[in-house]
Amino acid sequence: MVKENSRVPVVWGGVHSSLLPGQTLENEYVDFVIVGEGEETFLELVNALKKNVGDAISHIEGLGYKENDKIFINPQRDFINLDELSETPYHLIDVEKYIAKKSYATGKSARSLAFYTSRGCPHRCGFCYNKEFNRRKWRGKSAKSVVKEMKKLINDYQINAFEIEDDEFFVDIERARKICELIIRENLNIDIFASCRVNYVANSMDDRYLKLLYRAGFRTLSFGIESGSERILDLIHKDISINQVFETIKRLKKAGISSKYYFMAGFPTETIEDFYKTTDLIQKMKQIASLRIPAWRVFTPYPGTDLYELAIKQGWQSPKFLEEWANYDFNTVRMPWVKGKKKKIIKNAAFLIRYLEMGKTKGQGIFFKLAKFFGKLVDWRWKHHFFTWALEKNIILLLLKIKRLVKK
Ligand code: SF4
Repeated sequence: MVKENSRVPVVWGGVHSSLLPGQTLENEYVDFVIVGEGEETFLELVNALKKNVGDAISHIEGLGYKENDKIFINPQRDFINLDELSETPYHLIDVEKYIAKKSYATGKSARSLAFYTSRGCPHRCGFCYNKEFNRRKWRGKSAKSVVKEMKKLINDYQINAFEIEDDEFFVDIERARKICELIIRENLNIDIFASCRVNYVANSMDDRYLKLLYRAGFRTLSFGIESGSERILDLIHKDISINQVFETIKRLKKAGISSKYYFMAGFPTETIEDFYKTTDLIQKMKQIASLRIPAWRVFTPYPGTDLYELAIKQGWQSPKFLEEWANYDFNTVRMPWVKGKKKKIIKNAAFLIRYLEMGKTKGQGIFFKLAKFFGKLVDWRWKHHFFTWALEKNIILLLLKIKRLVKK
């Protein structure tokens, strides 16, 4: 539409075009791509276009462009010092549209905003975009500027909950400590959600540290565990152990901090026995504390990652054109090794996970009672690895449909 109605140049930025700049530029509608962080590259591009100095374009670091149907990708630029960026100009957008009415950390009513304090991650998980995009380099804003920005958002927009969206908030454990101390000193009275790693909790956070996190408002921490199979954890370079998972659950429970754990299924070479190690681990975890474990999705290869190459070796074909990526996400991706009975098992278990251990909880109401009844059945299935036929899934889906119709 832009191309049909104007001569405005089309610039693509973000993770996808940074991982595949050449393929993105091959598309006839794309004029420029920005590889890596965009703040400085985009500004230099806009200035060059404004002054109509075409030559300057070939010197802009981090820019990809086309000339006479030939594609050029300039060398990448160094990472930005986040503390040197000017203040985020929130007034340029309608902030109200971005405020969630529920706290991500507690589920209670709040005015919650997504928030960044750092970029990148030094770890090497074989499925994650970070290794390529951020070259394993973590950089964080100083504790002082993080809390200053929080205070501004609290004062200007009455925010009382933050969902920290960093790739990995706790890489610099001392910076995180200072942020907590400043939040307490300034009496910000907020609640916070952030991601973490189980090896950080197990190895670097003592009970006093966890207490400090709680006092500052950290109410939920989330963790990527990905698999219960040590073989798969090694394959994906997760660099965590199952013991650290149990240790984390126990320590956070003691500190009063809730936790959320993410898993995946369908890694290349993953067998059904590996998958059952994941379901076994989840059951053991849920017996220690009440945890949030969302249903897993099938592994999705990202260009530039170790597992992307392995997936191709295992027979998966990556999209060849920009348009093909439009239909490529968690729900639509098809891995050649996730099929037939295995696919059925993974899908059924993903659906039933929300009822696991529900047989033991107490509550009122007809739907709760039904969930409790199904919970017992699901617990039994989990114990016996029996996911091929899940009749209760159809009953639950039917009941939910009836509920929706009645509500309508
Ligand atoms: S710890 Fe998280 S952000 Fe870091 S590489 Fe692994 S998945 Fe990516």
